[in-house]
Amino acid sequence: MPSPETPRRIVVTNALPYANGPIHIGHLVGYIQADIWVRFQRMRGHDVTYVCADDAHGTPIMLAAEKADKAPEAFIAEIQKEHEKDFADFDVTFDHYHSTHSDENRELSERIYRALKQAGHVEVREIEQAYDAEREMFLPDRYIKGTCPRCGTEDQYGDNCEACGATYEPHELKDPFSVVSGSAPEWRPSEHYFFTLSALQNEIEAWLDSAELQRPVKAKLREWLKPKEHGEGGLRDWDISRDAPYFGFEIPGAPGKYFYVWLDAPIGYFASLKAYCEQVGLDFEALIAQDSEAELWHFIGKDIVNFHGLFWPAMLKDAGFKQPTALNVNGYLTVNGAKMSKSRGTFIRAATWAEYLPTETLRYYYAAKLSSSVEDLDLNLEDFVARINSDLVGKYVNIASRCAGFITKRFDGQLSENFDNSELVAQFAGKAEDIAARFDARNFSQAIREIMALADQANQYIAEKQPWVVAKQDDSDTELQAICTTGLELFRQLTMLLKPVLPQLTRKAEAFLGLELQSWQDIQTPLLGQTINAFKPLMQRVESDKVDAMLEASRADLAAVADSKPAQTTESGKVDDSMIEFDDFAKVDLRIARIAKAEHVEGADKLLRLELDVGELGSKQVFAGIKSAYAPEDLQGRLTVMVANLAPRKMRFGLSEGMVLAAGPGGDELFILSPDEGATPGMKVK
Ligand SMILES: [Zn+2]
Repeated sequence: MPSPETPRRIVVTNALPYANGPIHIGHLVGYIQADIWVRFQRMRGHDVTYVCADDAHGTPIMLAAEKADKAPEAFIAEIQKEHEKDFADFDVTFDHYHSTHSDENRELSERIYRALKQAGHVEVREIEQAYDAEREMFLPDRYIKGTCPRCGTEDQYGDNCEACGATYEPHELKDPFSVVSGSAPEWRPSEHYFFTLSALQNEIEAWLDSAELQRPVKAKLREWLKPKEHGEGGLRDWDISRDAPYFGFEIPGAPGKYFYVWLDAPIGYFASLKAYCEQVGLDFEALIAQDSEAELWHFIGKDIVNFHGLFWPAMLKDAGFKQPTALNVNGYLTVNGAKMSKSRGTFIRAATWAEYLPTETLRYYYAAKLSSSVEDLDLNLEDFVARINSDLVGKYVNIASRCAGFITKRFDGQLSENFDNSELVAQFAGKAEDIAARFDARNFSQAIREIMALADQANQYIAEKQPWVVAKQDDSDTELQAICTTGLELFRQLTMLLKPVLPQLTRKAEAFLGLELQSWQDIQTPLLGQTINAFKPLMQRVESDKVDAMLEASRADLAAVADSKPAQTTESGKVDDSMIEFDDFAKVDLRIARIAKAEHVEGADKLLRLELDVGELGSKQVFAGIKSAYAPEDLQGRLTVMVANLAPRKMRFGLSEGMVLAAGPGGDELFILSPDEGATPGMKVK
C-alpha cells in the first residue's frame, strides 16, 4: 500500500559534539531524539539523510591536545573514534559522521567566507585583546579570570560573574590573570574580521518568519534581534577571526588569522553531507541550493540557539545556500531532579551507561519523556527502573510470552487463519495514524502513552480470554489458536509502533515473528496463517543494583575528565564541582597499623617515635605530634589508622614514613583513632 503522504526529502543534523571530551547522557537527549525522528520518517516512506561530525577546532582543543602531549590531529582523531562508538552503542545511526577538520569543510568555509566578503559583509577592525605574553597567545574571554568589577567576587570569567550575574568586558576585571599561564594579561591591538550581521537584520527576520521553530525559541530570537530603547542593542557584528596560535583554518588572504571555531562548526553539517553525497553519488549542490526542495532540520541544545538562529541563516543567505527549514531545540537533562553531578555519580558517560545497562532502556525512557518543548528533561532513576520493567517487560514483551508457548507447543508454530477478535485488531491498526502524527510533531511522550494504552488493552484481552484455561478444555484447539494469534497480531502491531524507539528489541521481536516491518503501512498486513519461531525471552528486567553500580562507576571514572574545558558546541547538562571525586579519595592509602613500639625522642618536646607494624607493607617509622596527649606505654600494642602512602619526610630525628590519624584541637585534647575488634595490621581502610 502506498504511503498516504507525498514523500519528503529531509536532511537531518545533530549538534556537533566538541572533540575534547566524552559523550554523556545529557548530550544523548538530542541525539536520541533526532535518531528516533529519522527512523520514524523513513518508516513513513520519506527520504532522509542524517549526518553529523565532530567539532574539532578552537582554543580548548589546541590546549587540551598540548596538555595530552599530542598533535591536535591525533588528539581529535582519538576522540572522534570514541564518539562514534558511543553513538553506535546507542543506535544513533548517522548516514555519515565527519569532522570539521576536513578538506570538505575547509573548502566550504572558504567558499562561504568569500561569498560574505563579496556581498560586502566582512569588515576588518582593530580591537584591543588580552594577550598572554608568557604563552604568546591572545586569550579568549573564557581564558581570562579575575575579580568581578561589580561585586568583588574573585575567580570570575572574563565575560560574566557567576556570583552576581554581571556581564562586562574582560578589561574591566580587577586583578586579571590568564587561565593558561597564570600571568597577568597585556592588552594588545589586533586586526579582527567581522561579519556585519547588523546589516542583515531584515534578512534574518524574514528567515525567522518562514522557519519552523518552537514558540519560545522564536520569541527568544526576536528578542535578540530587536533594538532596545534609544536605538541601542539589537544585532551586533560578529567577530569571526582569531589570531595564531589557533587550531582551525587560516583565513584566505589573511596570514596568521583563523576562522573562529563557530564560523566553521555549522558549515561542518554541509561538509559531512558533501562527503556522504560523494560517497553514494548524490548531487550535493542540488541539495543545498537556495531553491532546493529538501528540508533542512537541525536538532540542537538550547545553549546554541543564537548560532543556529541568527549567524547560520545569515551566512547561508549570503552564500546563496538553502537556509534551515526548522530548528528543534531540546532542553537540558537533569538527573533525579538536579543538575548532573560528578560527586553524586549522575554525570554519566555514554560508555559507562552502555557498560551497565541496556542502551535501549535510555532511548525508551527519553522517548517516554520527550516532547516538542524546550523544557528540561528529568531522568529519575527510580522511575526509570519502574517504567522499563512495567512498560517493556510487564506490558509489551509479556503479550508475546503469554501467547507464544501455546502456538509453539500445540500448533507447531502455526498461526490461525482467523482472529478471535478482528474488531480489536482493526481498532489497534486504526490508531497508527494518530500515533504517527505524534511522532512527526516530536511529541514522543504522547506517542508512547498511546502505545502503552494499546499494550494495556492487549494484556486485558488476554487476561479475559484466559488461553491457559481454554487450553485445558476439550475441543478448544481452534479457539485457543485464534486467541493466541490475535494476541500475537497485537504484539506485532505494537512492535511496529515501537520500532523507531527500540531498534534492537523490535529486531528480536521480528525474528521471533519471522518477518520484517519496514513501513508504517505494514501495520495493515495482519499476521495470519504464518509460522512463527520459538519464543525466547526478549529482554530482562532492569535491576536497581545495576543502576547503583553505574553511579558508583561514574563517580570513579569521571575524575579523569574532571578538568575538561567547557564544551563550545553542545553542553547539555551543567556540572556541580563542589565535592572531591571518589578517585581523589581513593588516592589516599589508609591502613590499619599496630603500634609495635612508642618512645620519646631526644630533643623533641611534641613528638613520639612510633614503630608501626603495617602487615604486608612491613614496618614503618612515624614521628607523631601526640606527646602532649599520650604516654608511650599507653600506646604500645594498640591498633590505629595510618596514611601509608604519604611521601616520606626527612626530619631532624630521622625519616617519617607516614601519618597516624588523630582527632581533636591539640594539646592534651588529641585522640588517635582505633578500629573495631577484628581488624588486623595492613588492612586497607576504605
Ligand atoms: Zn559579581
